[in-house]
Amino acid sequence: MSNIAILCSGGDVSGMNPALKHFVEYSLQKGMTPYFVNDGYEGLIDNNIKEATYKDVSGIINRGGTKIGSARSQRFMQKEYRDIAKKSLDMLNIDMLVVLGGDGSFRGMDIFYKEHGVKFCGIPSTIDNDISGTEYCLGVDTALNIIKTSIDAIRDTAASFKRAFVIETMGRDCGFLAVVSALTSGAELCLIPEKEYDLKCYENSFKEQIKNGRRYFIAIVAEGIKDDSETIAQWFEEKIGIESRVSTLGHIQRGGNPSVYDRLMAYRFVTYAIDGLLSGKTESVICYTKSDFLYKSIDEVANTPFKLDSELISFLDESQCIS
Ligand code: ADP
Repeated sequence: MSNIAILCSGGDVSGMNPALKHFVEYSLQKGMTPYFVNDGYEGLIDNNIKEATYKDVSGIINRGGTKIGSARSQRFMQKEYRDIAKKSLDMLNIDMLVVLGGDGSFRGMDIFYKEHGVKFCGIPSTIDNDISGTEYCLGVDTALNIIKTSIDAIRDTAASFKRAFVIETMGRDCGFLAVVSALTSGAELCLIPEKEYDLKCYENSFKEQIKNGRRYFIAIVAEGIKDDSETIAQWFEEKIGIESRVSTLGHIQRGGNPSVYDRLMAYRFVTYAIDGLLSGKTESVICYTKSDFLYKSIDEVANTPFKLDSELISFLDESQCIS
């Protein structure tokens, strides 16, 4: 009988708990013993690894975050600690690993695999949706829904007070959350790192819109753009002549109870990850592209730079002035 472990690494996402639940149930169904590694790669190094049972995953499917903790680990960047991590797995005869994480976690796993040959399957999990080779990462739908709810609420107050709201979304260097939120919330302005912009080119149109009765503006800006959100707000005040406020959504985007879509995707990602490992895939990431799941090598996924879907960027071009 095989022992299989799961860990969460890097930024947590809503959807990890449903993934843990199905991991335990599906591993047991397949005749394996499931283990939880607590606190990501830190837990591997410290041998913070526990056998998991049905009881451990009862009542967690509706909870955001991750029951087993996630972490960033400076120590895992060093070979001597990765060697210790391998020993932890050997002590418990764990020879398969499922890793929920972002591109950083996968780069770590790629190195770990090349050094120690631990069989594993990665499940793309980041609200940034910035992993090369997959169109969807676990947690994105829940984050988008939280952003949508926040923007809807802000719109109410913006309209009442005649204000421009600059709403900053997460995403590091990726504008995915910002652009999808802008398109689905009817924002007047969306700025993302992937697209050059010049605020000047919006000035005439925005001032004209105010003259014609517009009471408020919603601007969605990704955290990775060249200006900070305060600068954009100042531009609204000085150049457009409308009172302005910044709302940085921050970590609320990572929490909240998992959406139906993320619960289903967690179920599907985990099923494919375990099936892949059992069918002999040794170092893969389970990707979701064109409505289908496919296994890609960790080397390809971890070491290919991510590019935002050009169709999404082109929608921005259509709805906004092009500098
Ligand atoms: P995410 O997976 O969400 O992108 P990070 O980029 O912070 O998060 O990476 C998570 C962890 O993955 C790091 O704290 C580190 O332990 C591990 N990691 C990232 N890059 C490497 C690397 N080049 N070598 C070894 N471990 C790495």
